[in-house]
Amino acid sequence: MRAAYLTGHGGNEVVTVGERPMPLRGPGEVLVRMVAATVNRVDLYMRDSGAGITHRLPQIMGLDGAGVVEAVDGAETRLRPGQRVVLHPGIGCGRCEFCLRGEGVLCTAMSLLGEHRDGTFAEYVSLPASNVFAMPEALDFAEAAALGVNHLTAWRMLFTKARVRPWETVLIFGIGGGVSLAALQLAKMIGMRAIVTSRDAGKLDRALALGADHAIHAPPQDVARAALAFTGGRGVDVVIENVGAAVWGSALKSLVRGGRIVTCGATTGDQPGADLRRLFIRQLQVMGSTLGDLSEFADLLTACAAGRVRPVIDSRYPLSGVPVALDRLESGAQFGKLVIDIAEA
Ligand SMILES: [Zn+2]
Repeated sequence: MRAAYLTGHGGNEVVTVGERPMPLRGPGEVLVRMVAATVNRVDLYMRDSGAGITHRLPQIMGLDGAGVVEAVDGAETRLRPGQRVVLHPGIGCGRCEFCLRGEGVLCTAMSLLGEHRDGTFAEYVSLPASNVFAMPEALDFAEAAALGVNHLTAWRMLFTKARVRPWETVLIFGIGGGVSLAALQLAKMIGMRAIVTSRDAGKLDRALALGADHAIHAPPQDVARAALAFTGGRGVDVVIENVGAAVWGSALKSLVRGGRIVTCGATTGDQPGADLRRLFIRQLQVMGSTLGDLSEFADLLTACAAGRVRPVIDSRYPLSGVPVALDRLESGAQFGKLVIDIAEA
């Protein structure tokens, strides 16, 4: 089968698009014929380094995706051949302390598509049936493929971690990013007030068109000052953040007393000043988050099925265009998801 896979680490020279052996479907697994996948920041990390992530080369790239069931166990009742499906990329062990507690996303033996095992930039993927969900009919394959990383991550940050409420105000940094854009959509889905930031005025215009209530052009604008001004000097209830060190200080200064900040990334550095005095005097809550578990994905899909969420697509590429898509993601020029069209539905 055709696939985009890594033969090493460091730049696009290690990304090969060519033939790989068909995956062997194990017991309890589903063989999925892939139709679409999308590119995520972690694909860039795997291409350039992959450090700290146990994997074997050559490895097929790609975490999220949507496709059609090709083969299942005879005893499988929930899925049938020909069914349209969308994939959750994280395969937990089901037996560790965290899996038993119902927090599969904290699994000590978590195996992620495209990170620890062969991923979705391929004509076929085999994975446990528990990670395969019926695709919401309201979405097409490209839109559904976009849900498994960015929207799932934003869902957990907002609803599970920050426990946001419709009357609250959220500040979302770097609205060009996939998780940030998903967070804007989910915040507006429940009627929150959303403030967004970007260096790019064009992206701010697009975010306003998607329902953002206020846009901060930063730099040059001062985010904390602008966020306080917009909230009448009070500050925002929640910050959704993955930019890291470059914005951490202004993120803390933008929060109301008792406010919550949730981070899922550190693109500009992971060692900002802690500002501990502000943290304890104003009783701020700092929360880390990454991806989301199967139940959160099920909730996200229900929202999509009801027509409440539709991912934004930036551009589309054939499987042979994976290196071009990675370059565009790295440039930061995109607004929305970069889709890899793998096959016809
Ligand atoms: Zn586990």
